[in-house]
Amino acid sequence: MLRLDTEVQYVRGVGPRRASLFRSRDIRTVGDLLGHIPKSYQDRANFIRLDSLHPGQDAAVHARVYQSRMIQTRSRGGIFHAVLTDGTSFVHAKWFHGGYIHQSRAFAAGKEVVLYGRVDFDHRDRNFVFFNPEFELIEPPADTGVALSPSSLDIGRTVPIYEEIGGLTSRQLRRIMAAAIDDLEKDIHDPLPAELRSAHGFPEFRICLVHIHFPLKEDDVAVLNRRESAYHRRMIFEEFFLLELVFALRRKQTHRMHGVRFETNEAIRGQVRQILPFHPTTAQKRVLKEIVDDLKSEYPMNRLMQGDVGSGKTIVAFEAIVIAVANGYQAAIMAPTEILAEQHYWNARRILAPLQYSIGVIRRGIKASEKKDLFRRLTSGEIQVVIGTHVLVEDKTEFKNLGLVVIDEQHRFGVVQRLQLMAKGERPNTLVMTATPIPRTLAMSIYGDLDLSVIDEMPPGRTPIRTVHITENDAERAYRMIADEVTQGRQCYVVYPLIEESEKLDLRSATEGLEKLTRLFPDHRIALLHGRLKSDEKDAIMRAFASGDIEILVSTTVIEVGVDVANATMMLIENAERFGLAQLHQLRGRVGRGSHRSMCVLKTSHRLSDTARERIKAMVSTTDGFRLAEVDLRLRGPGEVAGTRQSGMPEFRVANLMEDGLLLALAQREARDWVEREEDHEKLIAELSAHARSGGPAGLATVG
Ligand code: ADP
Ligand code: MG
Repeated sequence: MLRLDTEVQYVRGVGPRRASLFRSRDIRTVGDLLGHIPKSYQDRANFIRLDSLHPGQDAAVHARVYQSRMIQTRSRGGIFHAVLTDGTSFVHAKWFHGGYIHQSRAFAAGKEVVLYGRVDFDHRDRNFVFFNPEFELIEPPADTGVALSPSSLDIGRTVPIYEEIGGLTSRQLRRIMAAAIDDLEKDIHDPLPAELRSAHGFPEFRICLVHIHFPLKEDDVAVLNRRESAYHRRMIFEEFFLLELVFALRRKQTHRMHGVRFETNEAIRGQVRQILPFHPTTAQKRVLKEIVDDLKSEYPMNRLMQGDVGSGKTIVAFEAIVIAVANGYQAAIMAPTEILAEQHYWNARRILAPLQYSIGVIRRGIKASEKKDLFRRLTSGEIQVVIGTHVLVEDKTEFKNLGLVVIDEQHRFGVVQRLQLMAKGERPNTLVMTATPIPRTLAMSIYGDLDLSVIDEMPPGRTPIRTVHITENDAERAYRMIADEVTQGRQCYVVYPLIEESEKLDLRSATEGLEKLTRLFPDHRIALLHGRLKSDEKDAIMRAFASGDIEILVSTTVIEVGVDVANATMMLIENAERFGLAQLHQLRGRVGRGSHRSMCVLKTSHRLSDTARERIKAMVSTTDGFRLAEVDLRLRGPGEVAGTRQSGMPEFRVANLMEDGLLLALAQREARDWVEREEDHEKLIAELSAHARSGGPAGLATVG
């Protein structure tokens, strides 16, 4: 009898050689092996007869090879051409670059094969043809002694198709899987609580394994292929549930701590109204209310405010700050870059001006004496609002009574820094803002211990940004567009990519850009902003740009986040192919902030990689950050989008964050209910993790 944690080598058909092959793919146990679930399923119980094929249909056919040969072609590296029959009619199959099939002699006349693919009609030869179909040779049975299927594993049933592992074909894997399931002990402990299983119609774990690998007659192939069967759903749910249980527990533990509790009253509401320069959008109002409810509760707030670039997160954060200060507490804003900290500082002074708060900013490279003075005023409580980069979490910083921490652009900070800053106060309330348009599902899995508020509406009066793609040969066109804008009194950004290793080089191209623009626009004021300038130099340049004194700002990506100049209506991004999609979107968000029509020009070289081309195409076709994030996720995979290493993003074996958002939400609800209702969550987490480690669904989810 095999157990889930038995080494894979003991499965029939797996010897030491194959076992080491599996190990190199992180498959060590029977459970790991069975976690390699089919990538798709084919209905081979109902083969289509060759005399009833029709074009466009996805069909599995079962036929004998009538004849086959290689056709030499000049371009395609040869086409392997086979003609097959099932006695009712003939069908053709063609494989481009098919030399390998020819060499394998697999299609010798008389051999039995299953073909699977889309049926085409060849108008010239007037026959049906499959182009590059999947195929499998059907050898006479009796080669395994596996009792699982009556006749054969490969025909007469719904057949699992596996991704190859180290040269083991789908067909070989099918045999190994069948042996593993056949010999698997009958009662495996199912760690998913029975009440959850029955509430959602999730079958028991072992039953799921059997159906997922070797579906029975009653299982719907289409549903299986969409991974929507109850068996699939259960596996996915279990992966998410373990993760969300850990988060829910963390969240509950924070909730147990008594935090700083704020009041609101008419006077405080009056102060909040005083700082509002415009009517908040419905989304801003809703999110503020969610925040205020948190602030008034006895538990510390732990909230993520997510909203696309330009959706107006800043003012909402300042409203929360006013409530904190009005309650006699200090508030801190932590920003990922100096420029952005600077920007928040100007914003703070401008927005909070009516309330005459004492506001401080901690910059890198300020004089020691100045810094000492700042720290003293922080500790004494004289400074009410402080802004800074990660220096805020350094040990030296001490607050009198930190009541609210606002963290901007969370994706740039590790979770550790978030916790460090929170530890500075008596359980201060924490508001994390992110403009990174991470899809909701991803947000939930990364920030599962936070409550989520979404600003899903743009402030009124925006005109959409027009985005165009040009190549380097078209540079003149870009300069004409800049000319149009500046002569109308608008301002422009020209951005060069900054890649850390080659900072020098990029600085050079930015410098050359500056020279070129200075020649082209002798009557306009142009400046260069980059990361190597001193804080006060950057500050001076940004001020001059904000006030309109500088009309064209040439810059490396230091302006990426947060900068807010409504009169800037044009952005030219040089070497746009070198930027990631999220970064392009952030950059573009610097324009289109006022009522003037704005434009973003993506300039690239001629030759683009496929993914670069897709990124540019996506940028041109939409300004919706969430849609772009989905594209990004597809192009790069979730781990990278979230920066797996820093964020501790779990990887899933069965679940897919892009497709399984509803199950993730369900798992989050159930996990939160569970920790409220039940006492012994540690035991359940331990069991589920053990299950995951021995190859259960969340095999790779190392959380906690
Ligand atoms: P982000 O969410 O990217 O941080 P900001 O808070 O910087 O966005 O807001 C973008 C711009 O929109 C700012 O210029 C801000 O003043 C303006 N804005 C925000 N909310 C509103 C509103 N309700 N009505 C009009 N303008 C607004
Ligand atoms: Mg912002």
